Amino acid sequence: MFKRILIANRGEIACRVIKTCRRMGVGTVAVFSDADRAALHVEMADTAVHIGGPQPSDSYLRGDAIIRAANQAGAEAIHPGYGFLSENPDFVEAVEAAGLTFIGPSATGIRAMGLKDAAKALMEQAGVPVVPGYHGAEQDPEYLAGAAAQIGYPVLIKAVAGGGGKGMRRVDDPAGFADALESARREAAGAFGNDAVLIEKYVEKPRHIEVQVFGDGTRAVHLFERDCSLQRRHQKVIEEAPAPGMTAEMRAAMGEAAVRAAEAIGYRGAGTVEFIVDGAHGLRPDGFWFMEMNTRLQVEHPVTEAITGVDLVEWQLRVAAGEALPAGQEDLSISGHAFEARLYAEDVPAGFLPATGRLWHLAFPYGVRADSGVRAGDAISPWYDPMIAKIIVHGATRSVALRALERALAGTEVAGSVTNLAFLRKLALHQGFAAGDVDTGLIARDLDALADPPQPCTRSWSLAALGALGLSAPGDALEGFSLWAPQWRETRIASGETERTVRVRCLSGTAREAEISDTTHRFDWQGGRWAVDGVPVPASIVCNGGNVSVFWGNNYHFQIPDPLARGGAAGMSGDVIEAPMPGQVKAVFAEPGAAVEKGMRLAVLEAMKMEHALTAARDGVVAEVLVNPGAQVEAGAALIRLETET
Ligand code: ADP
Repeated sequence: MFKRILIANRGEIACRVIKTCRRMGVGTVAVFSDADRAALHVEMADTAVHIGGPQPSDSYLRGDAIIRAANQAGAEAIHPGYGFLSENPDFVEAVEAAGLTFIGPSATGIRAMGLKDAAKALMEQAGVPVVPGYHGAEQDPEYLAGAAAQIGYPVLIKAVAGGGGKGMRRVDDPAGFADALESARREAAGAFGNDAVLIEKYVEKPRHIEVQVFGDGTRAVHLFERDCSLQRRHQKVIEEAPAPGMTAEMRAAMGEAAVRAAEAIGYRGAGTVEFIVDGAHGLRPDGFWFMEMNTRLQVEHPVTEAITGVDLVEWQLRVAAGEALPAGQEDLSISGHAFEARLYAEDVPAGFLPATGRLWHLAFPYGVRADSGVRAGDAISPWYDPMIAKIIVHGATRSVALRALERALAGTEVAGSVTNLAFLRKLALHQGFAAGDVDTGLIARDLDALADPPQPCTRSWSLAALGALGLSAPGDALEGFSLWAPQWRETRIASGETERTVRVRCLSGTAREAEISDTTHRFDWQGGRWAVDGVPVPASIVCNGGNVSVFWGNNYHFQIPDPLARGGAAGMSGDVIEAPMPGQVKAVFAEPGAAVEKGMRLAVLEAMKMEHALTAARDGVVAEVLVNPGAQVEAGAALIRLETET
């Protein structure tokens, strides 16, 4: 086994790899950018090497700097994690040329699966079912339109170099084909520098089911399937293993196809073969088709670990160090059911806008696996993926595990940034999801209900007021408490755009009363928490400066308005549309003098690999457009100004 390895990554995956290394007695070297000097993965590793600026292209994508760091720190091997350089065959070759071991597949293996069209052709040859369609070299628009007609509408146009759902367009009839082709090409050229596409039959009611494989360069085994059908805009949200409704027959067929795919390219290490499955008529052994193979560890690998008991990172290290596959197919079996939810710093009601912020409070419930790369006090910076954690649960059955997921989400506490926690929890409570009736369209169909933020009740407002007045812990009251004249104290607090007044008085060191509108609540400290109106509740209150958060099933965030700041903030009144994060302005739809309505899309900002619509916060008239399309802007930059309301 290696004495010491370097982890060429950051965030939760770097931390997760380090944990397994510690357990195996393998030393660790972290690398970090300027933005990550105090990051958790740097603290966890035995040593750490600074490799450059915060832009990934200045640090985590710099193969040369990373290899130099490995040599300098005496590492024998490099684990790439996922993303960044993990699927870059040139990097693999450079690592090997430097006399180091790459913990992953060979450069040839990565190249074979790098482009979707070549991978499909290869899989067809290996006898793996592929989605019916055209994946040849001819790229003439008329020829492609002919191919689409032959495949039969609806079809899906995909960039051959695609990833993350980019360069993908669904087309329902011949009339829409030419436009869709052009826009898919444009997006692909911009994102991948390669505008070639392939055409596929669009699978109705599609399910995304993928198989975890593991190879030693000759032989491969599979570790069963994961269902990743719960997606938003082709991005995974909640993953599970095994797939609901999976039959033994189909599992065997998919597992064999995946192993065939891996062995066809002499695959070494952990990989995932992704299939699209026709979920319209139940799962059938002839109803799945190869989509692509990811030649790395996947974000969602923990659900496989939970049901198989295998530590996939340990397997990666052992196979890379030259050991045989740690288990044969007959040694592997499924135990129970697992879910993973991806907790993100993002503003769900605002259209899943990625958010940034310093997490002044972060806590996960006991007994839950939370893979995270941040701790309380850390910032979610605009430089990297805004994932806060992956929350992973395991149960004896799917319904037990789903209940555990819902409880785990209800007990997760994050303050300092908006998150998708409430959205995830609503998904965990979704009836169709609970019934195992999943397909990639589920979230979009119910988006309004799922994205609607939960509103605090008067009890939560009152708890927030206890926090705002410094009365949230027992005994805090002693100072303001007098036996004969309990004093009412008043505070104003805000939640979003709503501001309310709450009056609180201390009845004793362990009893409070709060008045909000014409409702009164009584709080008694019992068993280490507040009982509200006689009922002990699992609520907690945390405060930070002018912020108070109440955690009670959902995360409710309140602010204590600063009376001095009132009236001064132009942004608050919606006069200025600002860039919420650094990015590039892709389009501007506003012109000076134009009348706009609240919610109207005024500009598009591309940031963090996604496009974000910037909308008017109120009705008004455009006074000034301050940027042109193509401009690179900083967070907070003023883009469009509305005429001041009179
Ligand atoms: P990317 O590499 O850009 O992520 P994929 O080929 O992995 O693209 O596809 C991403 C998602 O798009 C899938 O998980 C599935 O939801 C959907 N999808 C892909 N191919 C099809 C198809 N032929 N029919 C219907 N949906 C599809």
